[in-house]
Amino acid sequence: MPVFANPGTDGAVMSFESRYENFIGGKWIAPTKGQYFENPSPVNGKTFCEVARSTAEDIDLALDAAHAAAPAWGKTAPAERAQVLLRIADRMEQNLEKIAVAESWENGKAVRETLAADIPLAIDHFRYFAGAIRAQEGSLSQIDEDTVAYHFHEPLGVVGQIIPWNFPILMAVWKLAPALAAGNAVVLKPAEQTPASILYLMSLISDLLPDGVVNIVNGFGVEAGKPLASSNRIRKIAFTGETTTGRLIMQYASENLIPVTLELGGKSPNIFFDDVMAADDGFRDRALEGFTMFALNQGEVCTCPSRALVQQSIYSDFVDLAVKRVEQIKQGNPLDTDTMMGAQASNDQFEKITSYLNIGREEGAKVLTGGEPADLGGDLSGGYYIKPTVFEGSNSMRIFQEEIFGPVLALTSFSDYENAMSIANDTLYGLGAGVWSRDGARAYRAGRDIQAGRVWTNTYHDYPAHAAFGGYKQSGIGRENHAMMLDHYQQTKNLLVGYAQNAK
Ligand code: NAD
Repeated sequence: MPVFANPGTDGAVMSFESRYENFIGGKWIAPTKGQYFENPSPVNGKTFCEVARSTAEDIDLALDAAHAAAPAWGKTAPAERAQVLLRIADRMEQNLEKIAVAESWENGKAVRETLAADIPLAIDHFRYFAGAIRAQEGSLSQIDEDTVAYHFHEPLGVVGQIIPWNFPILMAVWKLAPALAAGNAVVLKPAEQTPASILYLMSLISDLLPDGVVNIVNGFGVEAGKPLASSNRIRKIAFTGETTTGRLIMQYASENLIPVTLELGGKSPNIFFDDVMAADDGFRDRALEGFTMFALNQGEVCTCPSRALVQQSIYSDFVDLAVKRVEQIKQGNPLDTDTMMGAQASNDQFEKITSYLNIGREEGAKVLTGGEPADLGGDLSGGYYIKPTVFEGSNSMRIFQEEIFGPVLALTSFSDYENAMSIANDTLYGLGAGVWSRDGARAYRAGRDIQAGRVWTNTYHDYPAHAAFGGYKQSGIGRENHAMMLDHYQQTKNLLVGYAQNAK
């Protein structure tokens, strides 16, 4: 199916196949049971392709291919693996617009985000890990005059990866780049809501990879994800998704005693201290912009700043301005480059969010703006659009405690620093947080006191490859990004060598 860039313009930017198979051992392979599922676009709710519906048999085929490829790939020189990653990055850059449009069409997110953020970040991730693996060194301990302990990094072998639908390409690349750099072969299962953009990417880059080093198997969680995560033929499982699914993944992995990394949900606080209003000097503007970040990616971000905490002394002035900002967010066709907010990724997600809009009202939260689906009319009437919504309430409400994963902000006030920290940390989660203050010492202290793996200070939603990312509490185990990620895909080999020539 051809997809056009700006609505109303001629000339398709890219074209999806009408059917996607699994990518196994460098080939497109039909699912063993011959079944497919329909893949609708959230832009208009219409099916645009069908995708292989895989089962344990297909996972086994992919594991066969990965095991065949892993020994040779694991022994390639780091510089050679780095070259492959760099070539992939170059190929993606040459096709940036196509990949960005593919992802927007499939996920519903605004193309200006995929063009400027999702895909460039994914490209940079390959480049970063190409550099990181070349710069990685082992270590040596001098045990005594004649005895040395060498520490080598060795790949794990074959690893499994399962990803969600909110950043299809970026989540795939966050997992693939370090795993490949470290010398592993991979079996990856995309989310059933967004497989086609990854498969489209594979069609662009498959010739750059040795057969079997990357295998993509599509399908549903229990049918395809579970056999992958429970297989005794993987040496690690990396998972991004819901906290409840993360618990299951850990149970499966415990049967085989393999390591697990989990990137899970969040309910991130975004804290605005009184000094953000001190002067209308650009800083206040940045803070107001930071407030609107809950709507970025339609709120479908694990680090979505879904709770805003504003100091009482500035509350009414700040919130007045902030809500006006939210009302300026331009919602529309995701493929229109003016659009700031597109469609929710699936009908299920749309329904989940609308149910939370009702829950918020029933709990007594006040709607300051939004609070309902957006009817954009015309071709978009079948799509999944929700207005950016600000609820005012208190932190014990469900809309403050449960991950909605939509453009829904839960707003409350705090009296002083201690009160802010106590509200911020009153959550099961600990993935992200934002702190806005001109007072560096206060902001630093808040950054250290908030129980979250990533605290942004006077900025939000930046994801550079060289900053560690991951959760405290029930938001996950392990980290992604940063060279430290290589540790999650390697094991340490120690050679303890005696060099003494003669027995003493
Ligand atoms: P999900 O847990 O429903 O699904 C994620 C993946 O797991 C999908 O590929 C799905 O098919 C698979 N899966 C589902 N059940 C499974 C099972 N029993 N066994 C094996 N695999 C199974 O999550 P989702 O709805 O796709 O994604 C949204 C969630 O992801 C949110 O909670 C969000 O916060 C989280 N997320 C976290 C991060 C992070 O880095 N921390 C990033 C993005 C998304």
